[in-house]
Amino acid sequence: MNDPEARWDRLRADMVAQQIERRGIQSTSVLNAMRKVPRHRFVPLDQRDHAYDDGPLPIGLGQTISQPYIVAYMTEQLRLESNHRVLEIGTGSGYQTAVLAEIAASVFTVEVVPELLTRSRQILGQLGYGDRVQFRAGDGAEGWPEQQPFDGIIAAAAPAEIPRALPYQLKDGGRMIIPVGSFWQELVLVRRDGDQWHRENLMPVRFVPFIRP
Ligand code: SAH
Repeated sequence: MNDPEARWDRLRADMVAQQIERRGIQSTSVLNAMRKVPRHRFVPLDQRDHAYDDGPLPIGLGQTISQPYIVAYMTEQLRLESNHRVLEIGTGSGYQTAVLAEIAASVFTVEVVPELLTRSRQILGQLGYGDRVQFRAGDGAEGWPEQQPFDGIIAAAAPAEIPRALPYQLKDGGRMIIPVGSFWQELVLVRRDGDQWHRENLMPVRFVPFIRP
């Protein structure tokens, strides 16, 4: 009775129950996605025992995989539907990408550190997410002009200000969630309503800074 997968499954179920549901995340699609995606496969081997801990973890190259609760919270804020197209800025480990790909029809993910993109592309392929995800190496501040408009945009690194191009790449009714600021950061929700954009600060956060290549 020493099945390692069963152990990860148990840790993951506990993570969702205690860190995510208990803190008020209600979206069934978000909860199911987080119950399913094997977070331990996205963290470096020497961090695996901490994969289901209640915090961010280093993934190398100065970057981190976000805390599970933050991933759940941000994803819930996007209100994704199964036919949606999402832009993700900051692929990192690919964990958030997998959660998005469980819920939406297609994920367009942009990462500025090519090594991270190579690694996450490989693992997402192995786990069967390859056909729902498109990858691009580059600066997320530009969005993905060829693939816009998006139902949702989500960023995992914090720019000092919202990059100019991004709000325009939202569909009418689309939602963007992005940490904004330098030392003090706020998680910001932007909702597009025709030619108007409504901006709301949701909570103070700490993300890695946006890299400007
Ligand atoms: N969602 C990721 C979080 C990674 S941390 C995960 O689940 O693992 C933030 C990521 O944003 C890092 O990988 C970093 O390299 C990337 N990043 C920083 N600035 C960026 C930019 N201008 N464009 C695209 N990605 C960027």
